[in-house]
Amino acid sequence: MARYTGPSCRLCRREGCKLFLKGDRCYTDKCAIERRDYAPGEAGRKRIKESEYRMQLREKQKTKRIYGLLEKQFHHYYEMANRQQGVTGENLLRILESRLDNVVYRLGFAKSRAEARQQVRHGHIHVNGRRVDIPSFRVRPGDLIAVAPKARDMLVIKSALISSERIQVPAWLEVDIEKLQGSVLSLPQRDQIDADIREQLIVELYSK
Ligand code: SF4
Repeated sequence: MARYTGPSCRLCRREGCKLFLKGDRCYTDKCAIERRDYAPGEAGRKRIKESEYRMQLREKQKTKRIYGLLEKQFHHYYEMANRQQGVTGENLLRILESRLDNVVYRLGFAKSRAEARQQVRHGHIHVNGRRVDIPSFRVRPGDLIAVAPKARDMLVIKSALISSERIQVPAWLEVDIEKLQGSVLSLPQRDQIDADIREQLIVELYSK
């Protein structure tokens, strides 16, 4: 699956807020948003007229970037959410949150979703005792997510665990740090997803 490989901080500056794409650095004063709180490029400091369309577009772009997705896959998730019963925006967030790379990040086994994606790709994560190397794999209630035995001593996972002390594991997940494993208690409700996303704007954009 293709993915964005350019500078991460540029994406935050474009959206005008922290997307927490780089792990530890995001919590320091080296964060680009702290230093240059304006959009990248020559027109970055110009005032831009807000329109309804622009707000919707930016919210969609921001959400895509938080979860590290490109347009095609994101739109596919929207269509999936739209076909499900219930509120489309909430369905969309639930689908995004249930991706394996996001769950590995939420459990604190990686400092960022990009790092979590790499760990999954490299086969360092097991689901219900079996290796799963597909970052978009969707977890279900009752699934057991564990760091593979061979990867337990990896420095990157240890440092992620130390860094993750500042990240609160959401109520729909449960983690056992000693065993380096976590379980999915349920799929998240909207109030259990702390992402600063106005999902209704995304639905409005795609429904045009
Ligand atoms: Fe975004 Fe993190 Fe870069 Fe700050 S350090 S701009 S939060 S990716």
